Amino acid sequence: MTDSIPRYSGDDPEALEAKYAAERARRMVAGRGEIHDLAGDERFARYRADPWTAFQDREPVTREVDVAIVGAGMGGLVVAARLREQGVDRIAMVDEAGGFGGTWYWNRYPGVMCDIESTIYLPMLEEMDYVPKHRYAFGEEIRTYFESIAEKYDLHPGALFHTRVERTEWRDDDAHWRVTTDRGDTIRARFVILAVGFLNRMKLPALPGMEDFRGPSFHTARWDYEITGGSPASSGHLERLEGKRVGIIGTGASAVQCVPPLAKSCEQLFVFQRTPSAIGVRDNRPTDPGIASSRHPGWQAERMDNFASIMLALPATEDVIDDGWTRNYAPLLTPRVDFSLPLEEIARQIDAVDHGVMDAHRERVDEIVRDPAKAEILKPYYRYLCKRPLFHDEYLPAIDRPNVTLVDCPAGVERITETGLVVNGDAYDVDVLVYATGFEGEATPIDRKLGHPVVGRRDTELGEKWRDGVRSLHGVVSRGFPNLFLMPAPYQQAVVTVTHTHITVEGAAHIAETIGALAARSVRSFEVSESAENAWVEQIVAARVDGMPFLASCTPSRFNFEGDPAQSNPMNGSFGGSAGDLFGYRALLAAWREKGDFEGFELEFD
Ligand code: NDP
Repeated sequence: MTDSIPRYSGDDPEALEAKYAAERARRMVAGRGEIHDLAGDERFARYRADPWTAFQDREPVTREVDVAIVGAGMGGLVVAARLREQGVDRIAMVDEAGGFGGTWYWNRYPGVMCDIESTIYLPMLEEMDYVPKHRYAFGEEIRTYFESIAEKYDLHPGALFHTRVERTEWRDDDAHWRVTTDRGDTIRARFVILAVGFLNRMKLPALPGMEDFRGPSFHTARWDYEITGGSPASSGHLERLEGKRVGIIGTGASAVQCVPPLAKSCEQLFVFQRTPSAIGVRDNRPTDPGIASSRHPGWQAERMDNFASIMLALPATEDVIDDGWTRNYAPLLTPRVDFSLPLEEIARQIDAVDHGVMDAHRERVDEIVRDPAKAEILKPYYRYLCKRPLFHDEYLPAIDRPNVTLVDCPAGVERITETGLVVNGDAYDVDVLVYATGFEGEATPIDRKLGHPVVGRRDTELGEKWRDGVRSLHGVVSRGFPNLFLMPAPYQQAVVTVTHTHITVEGAAHIAETIGALAARSVRSFEVSESAENAWVEQIVAARVDGMPFLASCTPSRFNFEGDPAQSNPMNGSFGGSAGDLFGYRALLAAWREKGDFEGFELEFD
């Protein structure tokens, strides 16, 4: 194991394990995963409203295109850009948002930024001739960057915003899809690409009394600057919160970023914490000027490959990103141990690394937070990979401020009242309430992520077909759905990459080049053969790594189905098992394209 990895120095790992189990038990509360269905419950419709772009009436459009893309976030943009490079002129993009950017369109809360290094998070930097301003980019820079991709690749004319797809349906008679929307549009498309992302549905917990709260309340993904003052582009001072008591529910990735500006701006901040996050060093700074000056063809791809190599424990001469992900996350995601050792010894070595990493996080709390009661509540007691790790340098000092009250509520907030919240029987009155309660995650069924039925041949509906598990070829196409592609995503038989951008750019290249090749051969339609799909599913299931014992011991989170990992489905795994073999997957797709015979596709020609 590498020497830079902190090891556990405590003398009683068993006591630590017991503490982990006790903390887990405090959070294993029935109904902890219950949510208000924002899609189906009109009482909560206002939480979905777009604060950023005014809704404009328009006439329904009827359009004939080569490719219709559902989703105009990072996935949709990158695949559209790649399609342009293939010479595809007629592209339609549909999105419920009022503009491009997906996550970065919606999430404009104060302090929003990306904690993956910007040079490997922002896609297509080389094509765009762009160098991000900071090591970790702020949300506004990311959103405007996505706008500039749309500009460069001329995607505005084909985009339909504030438009929700209601149905995507295949017609065998003319071998085209019909995409119909809530604005009365009909798009006739030769190909459809589903690019809706996987953290695309806001989550509001099913707390009793939410409708009773008389003050303003909103979700972080729809920040209300009318109430708080400030703006997405401002320095984070929220002048309308002066003299106000603010409550925030949640202490995940979004909360950690918006708590510091909230704490500085309001009179009193109440932070309701169910599970503490592990908050590592962020160390943001202007982008190293050496990056701009040393750019050469392929520079960003090399950087991404280096990061992925470290994540997958593959040989790499240096760690060019060198941050908390590569130093702490990688050695636990892909342990650097001698696997010929006895199992107990392997487990002991991995635990020593894990306990060391988590001890370092707990020590960081003690170093920064002077109030010992707050410090104790902030310490995370679980294994590092049980939850998504966070990186921030202002959050812990913000919690330490005298105007911030940290409320420990492992069983969750009890209920909302007209004037505030009740936790452990105690009432907390607030003027403004912020829900930093996140998003439905990777395991959300495909039809729920899509929000509409996709109906293929033989009246097959995609959500129905995948009800008992994903069935695909390469995680991007599925039998019964001719000329339809899905951008690769977690739980979808592709691979998972720590920076989602990496699998996005690989998937976009594969899909766009495949569409280009199909068009060049005048293919009317393709459909995945039954045998190819079965073989891929079998390969995914066979490669499955049983993470059950680990996940079962974890604190509840979306990664272990809120404490019930038995819900995980081996069919929804990755190529190569576990998080997946990115480089093997990429080589396999490249070889498949290179061969040029569309192996596993049944083709019909015009
Ligand atoms: P999270 O799911 O990470 O956090 C939600 C928070 O709400 C958790 O602290 C959760 O507690 C809490 N919560 C939920 N229900 C209740 C309840 N009933 N009572 C009390 N507390 C409750 O959501 P985020 O929006 O913070 O992040 C979601 C994902 O988005 C991240 O994991 C990350 O992948 C991505 N993201 C990435 C960023 C980046 O910088 N790259 C920035 C922001 C988001 P508990 O922990 O106990 O479940």
